[in-house]
Amino acid sequence: MFTDAEKKSLAGVWPPTPELLTKAGHERVSPLEAIRAFCVECSGGSPQEARLCQAISCQLWPFRSGGHPWHGAKGRRATNVNLRGLRGQQPHP
Ligand code: SF4
Repeated sequence: MFTDAEKKSLAGVWPPTPELLTKAGHERVSPLEAIRAFCVECSGGSPQEARLCQAISCQLWPFRSGGHPWHGAKGRRATNVNLRGLRGQQPHP
């Protein structure tokens, strides 16, 4: 757990570096994996609920499957997403 001062210090580094992200407890994931994990977390930890999400105006909605719908079959699908890095974060800060 980080103190408020530690969080402020980490947030003050812009743009974030790999070293900073590791220090902050993040694991290396792709943007699509992060979106997928975020949507599952937003859905109470349920992949099925993320699939059924009806918030179609949400900016993440097109990507909640972990795939890239604008790239069709070439879109890489995030699987086996590790949610540890996103636990405790609020879906819409
Ligand atoms: S509301 Fe947005 S972030 Fe939450 S599950 Fe639906 S698409 Fe994902």
